[in-house]
Amino acid sequence: MRRIGVFGGAFDPPHVAHAALVKTALAELQLDELRVVPTGQAWHKTRALSPAPHRLAMAQLAFAELPQVVVDAREIERVGPSYTVDTLREFKAMWPTADFFLILGEDQAQALPHWHHWQAILELAIICVATRAYTTGARARFDLETTHKSRFRRLPMPALDVSATDIRARIAAHLSVADLVFQPVARYIAHHHLYQTA
Ligand code: ATP
Repeated sequence: MRRIGVFGGAFDPPHVAHAALVKTALAELQLDELRVVPTGQAWHKTRALSPAPHRLAMAQLAFAELPQVVVDAREIERVGPSYTVDTLREFKAMWPTADFFLILGEDQAQALPHWHHWQAILELAIICVATRAYTTGARARFDLETTHKSRFRRLPMPALDVSATDIRARIAAHLSVADLVFQPVARYIAHHHLYQTA
């Protein structure tokens, strides 16, 4: 049975915690393939995202060294709002017998009950959750994780205090992000003058 991971995000920009999450998921879940899916019009983000071609290009640079990773542009190419459930249904149609693992940071996992057709998402994929730094120690189970125990897994990964929000703010403030994004991504950001204003 093919095992396919699905990791969505704005990737504005992709950073070292995203990469750590992907590497942990590949190893821990014994994935044959992991689809990194940059969001199109993310319905749940209030901020305007950087243009999709930039986020797509940076994701390709960030995960280039991982042969099992495929950066998948379907949500960017999709017209209208981007829903994870639609992406999972498309994957299911492409690989009807595969097992799917949806990889999420804890902040996103906690928000899952607000997602479009979340019940269908739980049927389509096992939800694999990485703890985020600000939830360290707590590791509080959220309601859905308790009520739908068999559909959730925790990814054993040290919590990393890294966020794209902080990276954008640091770049706008002319602070170094050398430890937070990989060099090809840093070069891309500099070349295209991204995140120059807070
Ligand atoms: P922003 O700060 O702009 O909201 P972000 O750093 O959360 O961005 P996203 O691209 O929105 O990055 O995240 C994609 C996925 O990666 C989400 O599921 C998110 O929870 C997860 N993620 C991001 N950073 C971390 C981290 N430091 N630890 C664990 N998961 C993370």
